[in-house]
Amino acid sequence: MNRIPSAALFLAAASAPLFAQTRPTPAPLAVDPVVARLRDDALANDHYAWDITEGLTTEVGQRMAGTEAEARARNWSVAKLKSLGFSNVRIEEFTVPTAIRGAESAEILAPFPQKMVVNALGGSGVTGPEGVTGEVVGFDSVDSLRLAPEESVRGKIVFVDHRMTPTQDGSGYGQFGAPRRQGPTIASQKGAIAIVIRSIGTDHNRTPHTGSMEFANGAKPIPAGALSVPDAEQLERILKRGKPVTMRLRLQAQRMQGASGNVIAELPGSDPALAPVLVGCHLDSWDLGTGAIDDASGCGIVAAAAKRIMNAGKPKRTIRVVWFGAEEIGLLGGLDYQAKHGKEPHYALAESDFGADRIWQVNSKLGTERREEARMLGAALAPLGILTGSLETAEGSDIGPMIAAGVPGVGLSQDGTRYFDLHHTANDTLDKIDPVQLRQNVAAWTAMLAVLSGPIEPVKLKRRRVR
Ligand code: ZN
Ligand code: ZN
Repeated sequence: MNRIPSAALFLAAASAPLFAQTRPTPAPLAVDPVVARLRDDALANDHYAWDITEGLTTEVGQRMAGTEAEARARNWSVAKLKSLGFSNVRIEEFTVPTAIRGAESAEILAPFPQKMVVNALGGSGVTGPEGVTGEVVGFDSVDSLRLAPEESVRGKIVFVDHRMTPTQDGSGYGQFGAPRRQGPTIASQKGAIAIVIRSIGTDHNRTPHTGSMEFANGAKPIPAGALSVPDAEQLERILKRGKPVTMRLRLQAQRMQGASGNVIAELPGSDPALAPVLVGCHLDSWDLGTGAIDDASGCGIVAAAAKRIMNAGKPKRTIRVVWFGAEEIGLLGGLDYQAKHGKEPHYALAESDFGADRIWQVNSKLGTERREEARMLGAALAPLGILTGSLETAEGSDIGPMIAAGVPGVGLSQDGTRYFDLHHTANDTLDKIDPVQLRQNVAAWTAMLAVLSGPIEPVKLKRRRVR
């Protein structure tokens, strides 16, 4: 797609004939030159986000919630945030259920013996080393599984297929996430011995997409795995041949309780009586890739933006950076933060958790009395090619429950077109991050923080002594 430079867009809007307008367009707001300078400097020069993303994925690697790897990530984060000059750097710990993945395999025994690539979903039941063996019964959606008579499912291995197509806003995830989120419970309730789903992904690599799931309404846990997309398509073709299909599925794991925690750091504002602006990401990742797009880059983006404000001077409001723990296994870090701090005032919440591709839209929910501020935010972001969307919604993973409870929020929407090619797979690694788009993210977050936490008192430059 060709992108029209924002200056050209602005001129086109300014010269549009009046009769073409159905209602008056508000005059463009002037952007504070300090905000514009911080934004443009981040766009051209930021290296902090890359340094954090590269460091975390290289020096820690996978960061499964509740494991010693996530604990190493917390220690790494504390050292990093302190070295960047943040204050009040601390860990708030909590306990979570977790699992360490063991040997996993899926094999068609009949009619066409062959191996397939599978990974257990988070929350899956566990098999012994011999696995479970049974006839496969296929469904094209969770709804057809839901409508199926119990006797067609009992004692069998359920397979749920679906087609997920990429979208810029990632909206397919809500709809096509159903096989993962609800499929295992329904299959278990109908007496299935296991379930495999087509990965919730838009790629054609042999890398299954894991993700969280829990057995609801007292359903007994059964082994639940995701086949890679090519393997799911292969299984679909095998089933279409009409002969009984037998699969052996092995999903071994060790389940346990473990420590998790949120890493919190602050850039203190000049007026401590004012409510802080919270920017977040999640520090944990799945155990397959190194969690570069999900969500090391988010941590890099939000901390880089706060660091750039720090370099420029002192904001009026405190900026609180929260690298949440245990997001992947059920937003547990966000819920712990809400339990401990949900009653304290927050001026705004925002979270980066959708990769590192460019931001195309800003949504906010700051309240009707802060409409001018929301418009100001839009004006500051427009030169980055960012549209102003809704002024009545904001979203975020860990911060979602607090926004739902009425805390003001901002959502900077990233381009999700290729996000679900990589999401929750072994392919989520640093090489997938485009440094140019990463800097556009930092520029947007820096501008947002400058608008919400400002005005910024410039750093007092030491006068050079003339000798
Ligand atoms: Zn995430
Ligand atoms: Zn995730």
